[in-house]
Amino acid sequence: MKIETLAVHAAHQPDPATGAISPPIQLSTTFERAEDGSYPAGFVYGRTKNPNRTMLEGALAELEGGAAAAAFASGLAAIHAVFQSLQAGDHCVVSADIYHGTRYLLQNVMQRWNLEVSFVNFDDSSEARSALRENTRLVYVESPSNPLLKIIDLAEAATLAHDAGAKLVVDNTWATPVLQRPLELGADISVHSSTKYFGGHSDVTGGAVIAKEEDDFFKRIREVQNLAGGVPSPFDCWLVRRGLATLPLRVMAQSRSAQLVAEFLNKHPQVSQVYYPSLPSHPRHEIARRQMTAFGGMLSFQARGGETAARKVAARTQLFHQATSLGGIESLIEHRASVEGPQTTTPRDLLRLSVGIEHADDLIEDLDQALLIENHRVM
Ligand code: PLP
Repeated sequence: MKIETLAVHAAHQPDPATGAISPPIQLSTTFERAEDGSYPAGFVYGRTKNPNRTMLEGALAELEGGAAAAAFASGLAAIHAVFQSLQAGDHCVVSADIYHGTRYLLQNVMQRWNLEVSFVNFDDSSEARSALRENTRLVYVESPSNPLLKIIDLAEAATLAHDAGAKLVVDNTWATPVLQRPLELGADISVHSSTKYFGGHSDVTGGAVIAKEEDDFFKRIREVQNLAGGVPSPFDCWLVRRGLATLPLRVMAQSRSAQLVAEFLNKHPQVSQVYYPSLPSHPRHEIARRQMTAFGGMLSFQARGGETAARKVAARTQLFHQATSLGGIESLIEHRASVEGPQTTTPRDLLRLSVGIEHADDLIEDLDQALLIENHRVM
């Protein structure tokens, strides 16, 4: 079945009780036992399992091509559950350019739990290989990465992890299963911030872990989900499941527009550098072409004139809202370094764009006027 069809139909049946095509939201936190004490529908208590969550998890597993999925209250709760499923003293190799929240989770929270982490530049696979240790249990990468759109060869990363007896975990938030299939490329686990493309409308926070196999490691993740309890509400699950139905349409439209925006910026005199994997100038363009079906709705660029000029451009756009986050239907622009905190290594003149579903011509016109105004001021 093609992904557009799967997105509508995966784990989605008319409600057997009423025939309702749109599934009901089951708010109940507790479920009645039968006379013999059993639970006829398999539901006991809301933190452990809820019909809307079960439906969402089924759809996530099918879309990503996994055996099982666990939904969480945020992307970071999902990522935390993966790392919490390791043992204290285990070692992880993590790609250096990742979402800053993941980096801080590892450096602050997980370090207190005695998890050993090496941040590695995967542009050089020998650097990644030499970071492996006897106690390496996990290799964790983001591709394309946030915010520099770095591309990691996922098949190569899987071999590297498996040779060391470790699992490969891929944050597939930016590409989504529409554009990139980490589990088919050899990864063991995909993680997502459902807050982004899955929800797709900037109105629900969520996260997901999807596993190729329902093995002992995934059972631990399921245990963390239940016992640490970072679960999404039934309404949040319903919203994310609804978002999934239009995911392929949105992501393909966003990719097409992002491509045009990248080409426009790449020729603009006020732009010194564009980060988008479709551009032949991208150092890992060939790998991106091989492992992605299109290049996604996210891009970054550096503005001439330094941080001041960049921040003015972000303030002057009319259609691009100046706000954090990504993956929604509306386009966003963000001065990334100032949101990442004092430890950031992101260039101070870098702006990140999340391209929405508006017409590309309007988005380009908006960026053009914001950059031209800056051009006049700088000169
Ligand atoms: N992973 C990536 C790539 C992200 O961009 C983000 C948030 O921006 C997260 C994970 C964290 O997700 P959440 O904000 O839903 O916790």
